[in-house]
Amino acid sequence: MDAEDDLFRPPPKRPYQPVEAQLRIPAEGLRATLALLQRAGQLESGLFWYGPRDAVGNGQVQYIAAPRQRMSWGNYHVSPAALAEIVHRLPDGWKPLAQVHSRPGQRVEHSNYDDKMLSSRRALSLVFPFYGRTNTVFPQGVGIHEWQIDCWYLLDDNLAARRVIVAEGPLTVEDLR
Ligand SMILES: [Zn+2]
Repeated sequence: MDAEDDLFRPPPKRPYQPVEAQLRIPAEGLRATLALLQRAGQLESGLFWYGPRDAVGNGQVQYIAAPRQRMSWGNYHVSPAALAEIVHRLPDGWKPLAQVHSRPGQRVEHSNYDDKMLSSRRALSLVFPFYGRTNTVFPQGVGIHEWQIDCWYLLDDNLAARRVIVAEGPLTVEDLR
């Protein structure tokens, strides 16, 4: 299976319920995310955003990692062992806050493949178009997904802009590919 875009999924059974919690990422983290995705060339690639999450669910991205992975033009795969390499090094209490991946074209809604491959349903899932070669104002054009009850919801631009916001803070970036 090469082209995840071939697989469409059914619409949700109920509307997304907006949440108050915010995921905060430094502007430098957004730039680093695009740079990591672009570095993969004409290949899809996956990244993870990690950091602390408070009691009401607000997260602060402090660590961005590109794990070892298999990349192709139309999908990517991270083995459990490659993911464990990163997770084992996280400071106590840090969580996976978002899983990020690129797509060849403009379409940024999850595929069935994404629904199956996502490693954590407590984290958000972000899909960047055009292999990360985009210069729109974040999060325009980026597919931000959140899991609720039984499906991954694609947030509209208004909800997305309230769910993931740019806020300064310390950041570490690592590329293990
Ligand atoms: Zn995908």
